[in-house]
Amino acid sequence: MNNLSPKTSVSLLGVLCATVGHHYKVTRKVTNHINEYKCTHCGREVTDNQSGKLETLTQKIKEVNTNVAEFFQKRTNRIPIQ
Ligand SMILES: [Zn+2]
Repeated sequence: MNNLSPKTSVSLLGVLCATVGHHYKVTRKVTNHINEYKCTHCGREVTDNQSGKLETLTQKIKEVNTNVAEFFQKRTNRIPIQ
């Protein structure tokens, strides 16, 4: 809540998200089951975790997702579609 730039109306957007929920948009597809999302209202970033729940996207998780995405793509490219 306090890491957003001061020019955005944080309180208003915060209320909006608290009232109607975050409006997440997919920012990156990691695997078929894991995506990264960003709230178009407050800028909050989250990702699907292994349990299929949303968790806050930290720098560390971002790096893990990057590795997973690369691994996933290599694997998908290597296996021919039958
Ligand atoms: Zn939000």
